Amino acid sequence: MDGPSGSGKSSTSRGVAARLGLRYLDTGAMFRAITWWLLQRGVDVEDAAAVAALADAPVLVSGTDPAAPSITVDGVDVAGPIRSAQVTGAVSAVSAVPEIRARLLREQRDIIGAGGIVVEGRDIGTVVAPDAAVKVYLTADPGARAARRTAELTGTTVEATHADLARRDRLDSGRVTAPLAMADDAHHIDTTPFTLEEVVDQVVRLVEE
Ligand code: C5P
Repeated sequence: MDGPSGSGKSSTSRGVAARLGLRYLDTGAMFRAITWWLLQRGVDVEDAAAVAALADAPVLVSGTDPAAPSITVDGVDVAGPIRSAQVTGAVSAVSAVPEIRARLLREQRDIIGAGGIVVEGRDIGTVVAPDAAVKVYLTADPGARAARRTAELTGTTVEATHADLARRDRLDSGRVTAPLAMADDAHHIDTTPFTLEEVVDQVVRLVEE
């Protein structure tokens, strides 16, 4: 399940996994967790060489229960802190560093293993799991994405969220290594007019086909 921020990926992926009894992996949380760890150490995330040098240092453990997503870095539960504005502002720079992507790609493929999992991210259908049984690419109108994301956050406005989503779209789509992209064989769903339940239904039908 790929798509830009706020397109409904997380809720849809968790809903589909829960409905079908599958595991669930949020790859964005992995990039966010490394970003949180780098920021804690005062690393300048714009310094790609400094980020690359530490790419393999933190130990990540990603939970795969769709009912209780969890992630720890060096044993610290960071499920809350990785959603902060500070991490959100820094994560695109970290995720553009090839050494970070190479490290996480290995871990993502290890977790995916033999399958039975819904994986969400930006490059799942194109890079991480090119042989996935079903590929879905979600989009939504910029206004709908900003409104949904703002409702999940505190202390921000729709305008500020809109600007942040546009900035991340630009960085995530423009990077050289594994940019946000729709796989040729992905099903495209524009979630704008649909409720979460309707989108989950559509994806479950694709899996059951
Ligand atoms: O999905 P989420 O918004 O939490 O992802 C945070 C960031 O992690 C994205 O903006 C993107 O820079 C990066 N990311 C990525 N590849 C993925 C998942 C996330 O580059 N597969």
